[in-house]
Amino acid sequence: MTLNFDKLKNKLLFVPLGGSGEIGLNVNLYHYEGKWIMVDLGCGFADDLLPGADIVVPDINFIAKLRDKLLGIIITHSHEDHIGAVQYLWDELRVPVYATPFSAAFLRLKLGELYGKNHDVEIKEYAPDMPFALGPFAIEPISLNHSSPEMQALFIKTAAGNIFHTGDWKYDHDPLLGLPNNDEKLANIGKQGVLALVGDSTNVFNEEYSGSEGDLKKSLYKLIDEATGLVVVTTFASNLARVDTVIKVAREAGKKVVVSGRSIWRVLQAATDSGYYKDLPEFVDEKDIGSYNRNDILILCTGCQGETFAATTKMANKNHQYIKLAKGDSIIFSSKIIPGNEKKIFKVFNQLVKMGIEVLTEKDHFVHVSGHPGRKELERMYKLIKPEILVPVHGELMHMHYHARFGREIGIKSALEIENGHVIAFDNETKTADTIGEVEAGQLAVDGYYLLPAQSPIMKMRRKLTQAGVVFAHIIVQNNQIVGSPIIKTPGVLDIKADSELIAEITEELYEAVQSRLKANNRRRNNLSELYQLMRGIIRKIIRREVNKEPVIECELQMI
Ligand SMILES: [Zn+2]
Ligand SMILES: [Zn+2]
Repeated sequence: MTLNFDKLKNKLLFVPLGGSGEIGLNVNLYHYEGKWIMVDLGCGFADDLLPGADIVVPDINFIAKLRDKLLGIIITHSHEDHIGAVQYLWDELRVPVYATPFSAAFLRLKLGELYGKNHDVEIKEYAPDMPFALGPFAIEPISLNHSSPEMQALFIKTAAGNIFHTGDWKYDHDPLLGLPNNDEKLANIGKQGVLALVGDSTNVFNEEYSGSEGDLKKSLYKLIDEATGLVVVTTFASNLARVDTVIKVAREAGKKVVVSGRSIWRVLQAATDSGYYKDLPEFVDEKDIGSYNRNDILILCTGCQGETFAATTKMANKNHQYIKLAKGDSIIFSSKIIPGNEKKIFKVFNQLVKMGIEVLTEKDHFVHVSGHPGRKELERMYKLIKPEILVPVHGELMHMHYHARFGREIGIKSALEIENGHVIAFDNETKTADTIGEVEAGQLAVDGYYLLPAQSPIMKMRRKLTQAGVVFAHIIVQNNQIVGSPIIKTPGVLDIKADSELIAEITEELYEAVQSRLKANNRRRNNLSELYQLMRGIIRKIIRREVNKEPVIECELQMI
């Protein structure tokens, strides 16, 4: 059913376009009095269905068509799953991006690297915890603790009801970056009346608290201090809390820090630009490692998810330009193994183990704490906010389903189970919400300069190519006679040397069959599609018989 949004003008609506039913790509829309605001515009990792693409972004076509009614994009924090699609999709929206000083500095650096000073993304800074208004929405940002600085939950107030949009958060009694959550402030929000809480489902399977960065620091200190050889710590660059912890630990353990990876430099620069560091700590250049004792160096780098071009993967593949690991060195993966990335990460683990490197991961050491709330934290916050309705987002369907159930268990009257593209209408009178329809939503692969849907013909063909390769056949015809012999290429199917006899057989059979068909057609016009069908049939038959594969077959008949 197509919704008529003009008729819904006075409704308070919520539409997630990404992040509800998947990890990453968070985009959430709120509507009231004919106006829209967008909360976050993030990206995600591509999976095996999208060969050749690393990044996916949400399909925002629905709101791009209504962009004259979109008042702005409010960024809760600078993690890629909340800010990472701005660089790909802003042009379709061209509305102001509201971000705190750190997130704004981070976004400016990123856009600057891509477009120089020429980008025209309009970034408007908002101060943490300082209310502002966008049309019919009164927005009160609330600092919550997370692994990124200045994470802002948004208390969105309208005449049709108030929404508390949590963003990513946790309780940390000893955060090294930022302050613990202010429960008094949260209770005060609860007192103002919250119709719905739209919140983070990531860690709902965790029964306990997510753990404290302060406690983690003690564990990392012990591991780093006791580690032998060169010590490498790999994490997400966007996890400034962890980057900061590792730098502090290194200093306490008397080690010099080498930062490897542009994305970590970027986040440190953003932290400096927005006042977190007066000056960047003193680092050793990776080129100068040789002049230090191996045990005096700590390398802080990216690649904790086994990303192909990241420093960790290069070290494991022994092709890092400056950093050569040796037997007895140690590497700490200070991060979660994100579901879907296991294969890539374990490949890197195995390569490192083979090199005699001590590999420490979350599987067997205390090297990571999550930035997302476990059930005890959810309960603590929900008892303060007291929402009438819980709307789980930021997770796969399993997380969201379980989150909704948990919400009901702890006494929230209603908890919705939604998906990307659902249109949810709130009713402040009855304190209820309903899914009233659906709009287009989905993922697009970032493929070079193109954005492609998973079902695009290009991606379909690429999946086939990666699975079975391709056979090209090219025949030139003059005066109804084949010129020379057919040209056959078989990338990803046959080896030009080892399979030369088979290639010769295909060439010969094609020649015979096409030539005799041309002869038979002598008095009639040649039917090209019939000839292509003949060529494809011969190639398919031989490859199936000899190799038992179904490659892509591309034929070309050139009449001169
Ligand atoms: Zn986050
Ligand atoms: Zn997130």
